Amino acid sequence: MIELKAVSKNYGAHPAVQDLSLHIATGELVVLVGPSGSGKSTTLRMLNRLVECDQGQILLGGQDIRTLPPEALRRRMGYAIQSVGLFPHWTVEKNIGTVPRLLGWPEDKVRARVVELLALLQLDPQFARRYPNELSGGQQQRVGVARALAGDPEILLMDEPFGALDPVTRVDLQRELMRIHQLSGKTIVLVTHDIDEALYLADRMVVFNAGRVVQQGTPLELLTRP
Ligand code: ADP
Ligand code: ADP
Repeated sequence: MIELKAVSKNYGAHPAVQDLSLHIATGELVVLVGPSGSGKSTTLRMLNRLVECDQGQILLGGQDIRTLPPEALRRRMGYAIQSVGLFPHWTVEKNIGTVPRLLGWPEDKVRARVVELLALLQLDPQFARRYPNELSGGQQQRVGVARALAGDPEILLMDEPFGALDPVTRVDLQRELMRIHQLSGKTIVLVTHDIDEALYLADRMVVFNAGRVVQQGTPLELLTRP
């Protein structure tokens, strides 16, 4: 469904991603893993054109993403990041409902979707009326994931989504994500520097180092390869 062909990105003279080719199948949970600064986030952001590649080509369902308007592209991809990025002066309900409302869903469908997502992420339905700063870090992160899922995107892009959490909450949310992946069959591309997280979550791992892919395969393949 997503194909990167010999993609490169430089920031000024600094190469961030070099000659990257990658194929992501529909329904796959692909984890981009590697040390800080190895080009994972840049790769993820090239998929939704928050970053434009300098060379190469990215295809979505066979179509060059440069031929799609960025808004149309981003509607097809939910995006969840470590800093969560909830709007502090909006309630949880409004934060989660914002994408479906922008997409023009009827109001009763939006409300039902918010209720459904709170349940899916195991959040108290009462939280709908609260503001982000009234929730714990883990609860905010769950709301961030709910918001990324709200418009029912084909693809979920996640950049260190559990990065700032304590270990127990982190494991909880990792389990939740696996469940959502299994239930929805959504294509998920997730960035982490945590190798254990990658081994636990990934259908396939793509290992980055210094802007290049150095290995890829299933967790079992990577662990048993000589
Ligand atoms: P990772 O996600 O693996 O930590 P990044 O994709 O964020 O790696 O960064 C890859 C390299 O590009 C790093 O050396 C980083 O400092 C650099 N970089 C990332 N974003 C920018 C930017 N906006 N301007 C300049 N350099 C950047
Ligand atoms: P994360 O690893 O959580 O993605 P980063 O520290 O890599 O966070 O990046 C945070 C922001 O700073 C991003 O917008 C990124 O593009 C930018 N950035 C990262 N490295 C550089 C750099 N060397 N110069 C300028 N901007 C950068």
